[in-house]
Amino acid sequence: MTVDLDAVAANWRRLNDRLPAGSECAAVVKADAYGLGAGKVAPALAAAGCRTFFVAHVEEGVRLRSLLPSVAIFVFHGPAPGTESDFLAHRLTPVLNAPDQIERWGRFAAQRGGLPLEAALHVDTGMARLGLAPADALALADDRRKLDGLRLVLLASHLACADDPAHPLNRTQLRDFSAIAARFPGPGRSLANSSGMFLGPDWLFDLARPGAALYGVNPTPDHPNPMAPTVRLEGKIIQVREIDTPQSVGYGATHRAAGKERIATVAVGYADGYLRSLGNRGSGYLGDLRVPLVGRVSMDLATFDVSAAPEDAARPGAVIELIGPRHTVDALAAQAGTIGYEILTSLGNRYHRRYVGEKEAHERA
Ligand SMILES: *Cc1c(COP(=O)(O)O)cnc(C)c1O
Repeated sequence: MTVDLDAVAANWRRLNDRLPAGSECAAVVKADAYGLGAGKVAPALAAAGCRTFFVAHVEEGVRLRSLLPSVAIFVFHGPAPGTESDFLAHRLTPVLNAPDQIERWGRFAAQRGGLPLEAALHVDTGMARLGLAPADALALADDRRKLDGLRLVLLASHLACADDPAHPLNRTQLRDFSAIAARFPGPGRSLANSSGMFLGPDWLFDLARPGAALYGVNPTPDHPNPMAPTVRLEGKIIQVREIDTPQSVGYGATHRAAGKERIATVAVGYADGYLRSLGNRGSGYLGDLRVPLVGRVSMDLATFDVSAAPEDAARPGAVIELIGPRHTVDALAAQAGTIGYEILTSLGNRYHRRYVGEKEAHERA
């Protein structure tokens, strides 16, 4: 597995260039930077100029803080009971999603006294997942005592259908978010994720929060991918089987070689996040030759039909490109019946990981 840190940095710059002056491009590095490795990716992004980061869990924030002492770090899930002092000790800014979190952070600020504590406020405009219900947000705007001791630095909402520009919910959410934001003057406003950054200038506000696009997932699924690929995954062939009498391949005997067939067995399986749903649907590339995945994906192995390849190409030690320039994350995801996000965040810990561009990132930092 090769991660191109220069490509990640280039993607951030490309997204940043879409923003009007005065608007900032953050980076979402939750889930270990979508599986790419936050320990490498986040410093590369910081070296590229990114100053604001988002994680989901407070533990992710603590780890990120140890790498990046001087950036802003927001924690999407907000302060769970008992974590308040971790936020403070590591200078993490909680995203407050619900009345109990506002109360908790406010109580903590009151106990502490001193300077107000920073917070982001998340209002829900169409996900019904995290965030204050719009009515609660408006009630809070009318009665601000609950915000005593707090300094709101960001007002955010999250789009449900940004990858579908024609979906009417995009405009509805924009309208509702704008109405609520008008009642909270002061904090920066943030609505767009990766795909949201391609909906138009109205969605950009003061801060954009891209994740997937940084890592090369296409934020505009109906159009060519404007982002650079960042991950290359190659599976090593560890055995080649010559089949000359009809027989089946793999668990469940779901693929049957009717005649002569050459099967390359690659040391990658569903335990590595090479999803089992790819069985008899996936494919890879041996050089420039597309080779179909045949049979089921096993825990540690996958089998490819390399009958069309020259013998000296399909040999133990050769590699099959599973993700790369010929077979994108999005193409693999389509074969697996999922999205690029799930492919990346499933990338396993058994891969030999190589980071390119790293040295340059460190030199710039
Ligand atoms: C994960 C997440 C993002 C990033 O979304 P992408 O689609 O990966 O760009 C932004 N905002 C919130 C609230 C998120 O949970």
